[in-house]
Amino acid sequence: MASPAKRRRTVEEDSLVGYLHSPSPTKTSKKNTRYFDATIQTGREEYHRVVVFSPQKRQAYEQAALAKTPVKLTHVRKTLTVRVKILPGGVVSRFVVVGGVSRELREFRICDRSGQTNVTLWEEKIAMVNVSKSYEISKLSTRRFKEQTTLTSTFYTSITEIQDVGEPRDLVEICGCVTAVKVSARRQCRRCHAVQKEYKERCVTHCCERCEMLQRASSYAVMYSGTLAVLSNGEEHTLMLTNSVVSTFLSEHLGGAASGHAEMQEKLVRTENVEVQVDSDQVVMSIKLSEEEAQGFVSSQAGTSADLLAEFERLAGLHPLD
Ligand SMILES: [Zn+2]
Repeated sequence: MASPAKRRRTVEEDSLVGYLHSPSPTKTSKKNTRYFDATIQTGREEYHRVVVFSPQKRQAYEQAALAKTPVKLTHVRKTLTVRVKILPGGVVSRFVVVGGVSRELREFRICDRSGQTNVTLWEEKIAMVNVSKSYEISKLSTRRFKEQTTLTSTFYTSITEIQDVGEPRDLVEICGCVTAVKVSARRQCRRCHAVQKEYKERCVTHCCERCEMLQRASSYAVMYSGTLAVLSNGEEHTLMLTNSVVSTFLSEHLGGAASGHAEMQEKLVRTENVEVQVDSDQVVMSIKLSEEEAQGFVSSQAGTSADLLAEFERLAGLHPLD
């Protein structure tokens, strides 16, 4: 078994370069930890919330925000919040000695409608979950271990019971040929999330119809939706396409082109045979093309990425850029 020190090194750490905005006053958590938060802008429309557990660095953050100088934050740990169900068959507890104290950890199998993966919970967190119940588990850290990314609870993880999130085995597989398909793309303002009715593909700029901010046309998010009709064993199924399934298809088969949805329609109608996984609401969860069409197709690992919210926490360094 890896020693605690080794284990710690496997925590995925990152660095972020950007401009700091509005550091908060220092706050105290329920667990008596002092921290503050801030926003770092890493791109034109890319913002991340960072939580800093070194209150003594607050002044440096404030100065960098005021001076509008770009900074590099190092040792940033990305945390995830998942909404998942605990599956039966968790392995037994293991014990790891950390700082001279034996600590218990247990790996649980978790799932949502999109697939399943594992999460490792430590100590008192283990008793906070029950098999077959669903939970929102926040601030999980991601660790790389033997080429695999695993989720692990942190000191800041909270666990709240939620309504049943479902299981992947609710999915039905439909094999057949596509008789009709429609994929539409709508543009959405990243600032106020309003769907744009008058957006023109050819224009360089576009004024948001709700917040009235003039923005570069390319900065609007693309949201896909659609309908797919599949003929299988003499029966036609009319299915719903979501933004996530269309985006996945575009990146797997058409290089992720933002305007690739017209090509996607062509490709689907021309394909001899498709394998579609559908949930109980007739919503398509995945599309697989028949063998010869699937050149370069990489099936993605079953994960519970559907509703992952990414946040960054814990900062060890703040460096002005030269
Ligand atoms: Zn807007």
